[in-house]
Amino acid sequence: MVAAGTALIELVGVNKSFGDTRVLTDIAFAIRSNEFLTLLGPSGCGKTTTLRILAGFERPDSGDVRFEGASLLDVPSYKRRVNTVFQRYALFPHLDVFENVAFGLRLRKTPEKEVRKRVDNALRTVDLDGYGKRWVDQMSGGQMQRVAIARAIVNEPEVLLLDEPLGALDLKKRKEMQIELKDMQKHLGITFVYVTHDQEEALTMSDTIIVMREGVIQQIGSPTDVYNEPRNAFVADFIGESNILPGRMEQDYAIVFAGHAFPCVDVRRADPDVDVVIRPEDITLAAPTESGLNGRVASVVFKGVHYEMRIESDGFEWTVHSTDRADEGAAVGLSFDPEDIHVMDRSAHSPGAHGPTA
Ligand code: ATP
Repeated sequence: MVAAGTALIELVGVNKSFGDTRVLTDIAFAIRSNEFLTLLGPSGCGKTTTLRILAGFERPDSGDVRFEGASLLDVPSYKRRVNTVFQRYALFPHLDVFENVAFGLRLRKTPEKEVRKRVDNALRTVDLDGYGKRWVDQMSGGQMQRVAIARAIVNEPEVLLLDEPLGALDLKKRKEMQIELKDMQKHLGITFVYVTHDQEEALTMSDTIIVMREGVIQQIGSPTDVYNEPRNAFVADFIGESNILPGRMEQDYAIVFAGHAFPCVDVRRADPDVDVVIRPEDITLAAPTESGLNGRVASVVFKGVHYEMRIESDGFEWTVHSTDRADEGAAVGLSFDPEDIHVMDRSAHSPGAHGPTA
């Protein structure tokens, strides 16, 4: 969490409904200056609505949005020091690249010399030097996205709000633009609030990730935090592939799941029924042992860098990623280190809530 006093923007207890549908419940988080913060979650979880509240396009039903400590609720969107880049770039087809970028400055009757300087700077920043005279329909998707970003940064906002800005690009272009955007953010020193449903994109680019589900924040943390220490089964499942099993913990540093007892690094919590998450890359396959956790290889798929193997063990199918291949049908033993066993409170949506107990 961001320490009090260092926040550029704060959302405090924000609630929002559309008609009878509650879309955001008690949303609270802080954004630091120069931070790359990502709102991550499945479609419909309220990411865009949160962004629109920040931009001033929507008003919360209750709660507050503060910029440097002062409420923004009565500040109209055009007066906020934020700019938005949408997935659909909404460029003007009848204007060339230069005039698309200059549009906001022209509206504000900025002197011509200043317009030239700022547009040229913005185009240079997005690597479109010399493209000013091009028509936007002669540009590729990636280039159009850069024009849209140039159009936003030309206004020198303190905060850039980006709503799935790479959504229309193919995978390769997306990956390139992720790196470019991150570089751009560092070099411009602008705070980015980024919306995506793509966990890999969030992990690659962000300083802080906010995982949302059905209008409720599930976890706020750095990419390594949310990946390595997911707060619940939803986060674990959404951020990368996971093995999630019901477990039981009756004492410190020991846990029972999959019919076996394992040493772990956690202390017991109020409810002994917990969920256990083990990442596929943290599991080692070896020869089966008499007392260990054993299974049979159900399938093997080569994924480019590693093999993805499904291991059937006592009714549970483990996913294992390894650069070493085990043969389909082989009997194997599964092992993992105590620190790779992530213990979480059991949530209403976790497999343990419905599945068999340990
Ligand atoms: P996506 O990734 O699909 O854009 P999201 O996480 O950004 O999803 P929102 O766009 O914030 O989600 O929508 C949250 C919920 O609010 C959805 O169920 C959506 O249908 C609903 N919603 C959003 N805007 C309105 C509106 N103006 N009127 C009624 N319902 C709305």
